[in-house]
Amino acid sequence: MECLECGEKIIGRSDKKFCNDACRNAYNNKQNKDSTNLMRNVNNKLRKNYRILMELNTDGKAKIAKSRMDGLGFDFDYFTQLKVYKNGSEYRFIYDYGYKLLEEDFVLIVRNQA
Ligand SMILES: [Zn+2]
Repeated sequence: MECLECGEKIIGRSDKKFCNDACRNAYNNKQNKDSTNLMRNVNNKLRKNYRILMELNTDGKAKIAKSRMDGLGFDFDYFTQLKVYKNGSEYRFIYDYGYKLLEEDFVLIVRNQA
């Protein structure tokens, strides 16, 4: 068995994953940092998407060209909720703002009244 942090051979019990506490702490800190960074990046994308939807949808409903959203940096991969209604239409929500992809590269933006 080799230490997950430094790769040294571990002497002793076979269930040990680290050669010492320093290696264990270093490894765990790195893992936490990675997930913190990941969450921060995702949160930033959601926040940016939300801001774009809010700016584009001032009257409760708006039909917008997808290219315009792309131009503003909207990332279609990030949303908080997917809702599929009985009629088959599919909305992706970012908190209370949602959108549906329409034909001919248009997007319908709506706002869910809570
Ligand atoms: Zn080690």
